[in-house]
Amino acid sequence: MKHTDIAVVGGSAAGITAAITARRHYPEKKQLLIRKEEQVLIPCGIPYIFGTVGGPEKNLIPDEVLAKNGIELVIDEVTEVDREKGEVKTAGGETIAYDRLILATGSLPAMPPVPGFQLSNVFPVFKDVAQLRSMQKALKEVSDLVIIGGGFIGVEFADECKKALQANVSIVEMLPHCLMLAYDEEFCAQAEQLLDSRGITPITDTKVARVMGEDRVEGVELAGGRTLRAQAVIVGIGAIANVNLAKNAGLPIGPTGGIVVDRTMRTLDARIFACGDCAEKFSFFGGRPSPLKLASIATAEARIAGANLFGTRRENIGTVGVWSTVIGETAFATAGLTESLAARHGYNYVVGAAEAINRHPGGMPGAHPMKVKLVFEKHNAMILGGQVMGDKAAGEVINAISACVQRRMTAEDIAMFQTGTHPALTASPISYQFVNAAEAAIAALR
Ligand SMILES: Cc1cc2nc3c(=O)[nH]c(=O)nc-3n(C[C@H](O)[C@H](O)[C@H](O)COP(=O)(O)OP(=O)(O)OC[C@H]3O[C@@H](n4cnc5c(N)ncnc54)[C@H](O)[C@@H]3O)c2cc1C
Repeated sequence: MKHTDIAVVGGSAAGITAAITARRHYPEKKQLLIRKEEQVLIPCGIPYIFGTVGGPEKNLIPDEVLAKNGIELVIDEVTEVDREKGEVKTAGGETIAYDRLILATGSLPAMPPVPGFQLSNVFPVFKDVAQLRSMQKALKEVSDLVIIGGGFIGVEFADECKKALQANVSIVEMLPHCLMLAYDEEFCAQAEQLLDSRGITPITDTKVARVMGEDRVEGVELAGGRTLRAQAVIVGIGAIANVNLAKNAGLPIGPTGGIVVDRTMRTLDARIFACGDCAEKFSFFGGRPSPLKLASIATAEARIAGANLFGTRRENIGTVGVWSTVIGETAFATAGLTESLAARHGYNYVVGAAEAINRHPGGMPGAHPMKVKLVFEKHNAMILGGQVMGDKAAGEVINAISACVQRRMTAEDIAMFQTGTHPALTASPISYQFVNAAEAAIAALR
């Protein structure tokens, strides 16, 4: 039997980050990471396998990061956690005794019981090299592809598949707009126009009734009876926490299906922590359970879990919800609450928006418009969230907005920001979007 001070189950975003963090905080401890798969994919890079990157083997997290940090790697599946004995058992017949255990077992694609989802050429998105390789091979033969789900995964798959395949690509989304859980309507409408201009057909406000075919996909029937031609279907409608190990070990599961943890990422068992997609989350806004599952949240939680193993050093503030996507050359990024989410959370709010070219003068190479919209609480002008659309710098601007949200800054704080600008890199200091959006909100508040 093996003995280790720290055992981590899961080798993706959360597992690796938790292990590296534990190494930083507890350099003397013996550590071991157990994961099922031979090769680990960069999860967020999966849609790009189908177009930009070219194949799953070009989208892998290198194992050197573990070796460099003195973390032993065991490739095996953990089948049981014996909490009494402080041991895990694996499918390969090993027993490993631990002092502290981190569960980072992630998530699996959601597959609701829609008729026809069992047919061949229906592809849920597994984070699995072999599955993605066979999916990529099958898609090459397809002339009509239907993607179910118009969230960021569906949109990214659509854009990448359109680039790489000679196929008609449609997205079916049951909400009134694609990307609607993350952006206000005007941003979603812009995203749909872009998809359309790139030859992708978004079909919104529409549910899928069934996938048609005998053994293999032959079409998709929509609610209302309309049918779409399809030889393959990609399902991108969310993820379910992978909690079987924890459940079987008697650890409580929360309202969104994740392992219950406290703010230190500790489970009910003082020696066991959980982080990433498998862990229950709560919102930064009001503290209700949050279903969000993102690699950025997973790694933030992992940095808390890894630091707290032998003494509490960090606490979780809840999920702010920061993420971005890109359609062609246009980025969409969001942090915190949109205007519609602020209304749904019961806030009395005000918004400010500003748009400008991201270079000065506008004739500089790489010029692209960028719009920033910020949402503030009305009674104290505190920022609740922001959205950015346009230049690819949006992916970093949104991280600055997220910092303001987490620090609960006011519109005045942001309007007084000292920003760095450069003709070849940013908007002019006069028209700097982020600051001017705050000024617009201050004017609306007056
Ligand atoms: C197509 C796609 C695109 C995405 N794009 C983004 C993005 O742009 N930005 C973003 O922030 N998020 C994105 N996400 C979400 C992101 O991928 C997840 O939030 C992230 O992967 C969570 O990491 P994790 O380590 O918690 O879980 P996972 O990535 O699910 O990893 C779980 C790990 O646990 C292992 N494991 C599970 N059970 C066992 C067991 N019993 N024994 C041993 N090992 C086990 C697995 O093999 C795996 O290594 C995307 C997701 C998908 C599917």
